[in-house]
Amino acid sequence: MMAAAFRELGLDWRYFRLPLPPDLFAETVRSLPGSGYIGANVTIPHKLAALRLAGEATDAARAVGAANTLTFLEGARIEADNTDAGGILDAIGEPLPATALVLGAGGAGRAAVWALRQAGVDVAVWNRTPERAQGLGVRAVARPEPAELVVNATAVGMAGENAADLLGLQEMDVLVELVYADRPTALERWAAERGARVVDGREVLVRQGARSLARWSGVPAPVAVMRAALQRTV
Ligand code: NAP
Repeated sequence: MMAAAFRELGLDWRYFRLPLPPDLFAETVRSLPGSGYIGANVTIPHKLAALRLAGEATDAARAVGAANTLTFLEGARIEADNTDAGGILDAIGEPLPATALVLGAGGAGRAAVWALRQAGVDVAVWNRTPERAQGLGVRAVARPEPAELVVNATAVGMAGENAADLLGLQEMDVLVELVYADRPTALERWAAERGARVVDGREVLVRQGARSLARWSGVPAPVAVMRAALQRTV
């Protein structure tokens, strides 16, 4: 996806995996700007550490408490951003539904809650471990309740199980399915059969990547090229 975008933009850049154990994360990342790196995406389990080591952070990264994008600025300054949040909104598109239920209060759930709340949506959050759903600035509900938009940000569905049955979901207008699994997931099929518009996790992946790339390059990302490249591989 990123390689296709670089080609499209005429950038002589490379994007590759840099697996790191947690105890080497901070030291290694601090060495990257001096080695010619422009930025990095960060994933599990380093998103909290990425925010901690950055000298600067966007509102999204600070509010969500995690960073998935680092940008290396002049003078070896490191800026943390969370593009998962904006990526979810971009993937849903306009107009946003008025009410939303976010399932899950892990990293992805918190990003969805913050983004939707910032966008003026009336958000409720449900989490299996209720304490984690507290303090996010929105209503924490004891069990899933009806909403126009439902975001599945739990791990339920990764093994083929149907989140609608397991979590007792009601019908919705729009479903955002963040689970990475065989497409469509059981929940996606369930929602589509009931007439919902389904936004799948790949679109969120494209959109968060597009936001990261725009931050690094300073120009809009070629979203259609990135989507087509991702669909060829996933
Ligand atoms: P995380 O921080 O580990 O959070 C996992 C969430 O799943 C927690 O809310 C956890 O609840 C819940 N959960 C796990 N097993 C459950 C079960 N059996 N029943 C009910 N809830 C359960 O992970 P994350 O980074 O937020 O990721 C969550 C999901 O989103 C994953 O499927 C991940 O692959 C996906 N994701 C997709 C994208 C994308 O771009 N498409 C981006 C990020 C994440 P507890 O708090 O009770 O443990």
